[in-house]
Amino acid sequence: MLIRCQRCRALYSLSDGVAPAGARFKVECGRCLLVFEAAAPPPRRAEAVQGTGTPVGTAVPQREKDSSPEA
Ligand SMILES: [Zn+2]
Repeated sequence: MLIRCQRCRALYSLSDGVAPAGARFKVECGRCLLVFEAAAPPPRRAEAVQGTGTPVGTAVPQREKDSSPEA
């Protein structure tokens, strides 16, 4: 990710993984010694969310028969 100093416009490249995605952290500029706050880019939605995992089976509806008619 790239971070630009807000004062001297110096550009810094920060390797991914230094800060957790979406987190805010402070960076000190090496040129003007300005400490500014930077935000890591939000994480990509690469993880495929699987289904709820409903069990596959045959559900036989139990039909409740009427009570046998008394003759
Ligand atoms: Zn600077």
